[in-house]
Amino acid sequence: QAGPNDLQTKADRLVQMSICASLARKFPKVTIIGEEELPTDDVTEDLIEDGHCEEILKKPCPAQYTGIKEEELVIWVDPLDGTKEYTEGLLDHVTVLIGIAYGGKAIAGVINQPYYNYEAGANAVLGRTIWGVLGMGAFGFQLTEAPAGKHIIVTTRSHSSALVNECIIALNPDHVIRVGGAGNKIIQLIEGKASAYVFASPGCKKWDTCAPEAILHAVGGKITDICGNSFQYNKEVKHMNSAGVLATLRNYDYYASRIPNTVKESLVP
Ligand code: AMP
Ligand code: MG
Ligand code: MG
Repeated sequence: QAGPNDLQTKADRLVQMSICASLARKFPKVTIIGEEELPTDDVTEDLIEDGHCEEILKKPCPAQYTGIKEEELVIWVDPLDGTKEYTEGLLDHVTVLIGIAYGGKAIAGVINQPYYNYEAGANAVLGRTIWGVLGMGAFGFQLTEAPAGKHIIVTTRSHSSALVNECIIALNPDHVIRVGGAGNKIIQLIEGKASAYVFASPGCKKWDTCAPEAILHAVGGKITDICGNSFQYNKEVKHMNSAGVLATLRNYDYYASRIPNTVKESLVP
């Protein structure tokens, strides 16, 4: 499964075992789908997290979710998003993604950025957790608008292709940011660094988009495939987002309307 374009490190394996085994122990009826194919039964106790976050539990649950049953939830886990960049030492591209879906929709998500501030000096707090719930909002960062009137595209750094670049050129951007990780790219959108995340290629999976989608939608943004189809996150769904990714905090229609038909026709959902 792992290859030069699809790396797996010890960190990917350990983090996934920790998250999935901890969640399974606390919520045995939930469906958990992690990126790495790993056993969860022989996980050592030191990997089990049984704490909880007071700050989150203090907030009231949105009314539409109070009746949800555990077995109706699907949790999509990317233990380490941006593995390629991680192996190259670009540590702030790395995120840990946990997305919660109900009725096929991404309704809540966590983007943990373990190396946030790693170059900010010894006094800076290392790492942060951004989280959000539809109908509640998103927390752990400062929502910031991208510069008005500028088209700043954020896209892949290590999985480019002729089609990926053709699509970006057609959008006539003022600037293109190439960074690793789907989680990291959504952070660029909600912190006003970029105006659109454009990736006209298969390769990105449901565990890459579920948590980012919930957070982006919780603050009024929008994410679809390149053709404009929304993503589904029920447990039977195909893992691959075959028709790429288009995401914005604002002005989704502007970018969607400028994706060339030739690009859309090259990507089959
Ligand atoms: P990137 O923007 O290149 O960091 O990709 C975002 C996510 O999609 C990461 O989890 C990548 O591993 C995954 N991804 C994108 N394109 C590919 C590809 N061609 N092969 C394998 N994984 C990919
Ligand atoms: Mg990933
Ligand atoms: Mg990963």
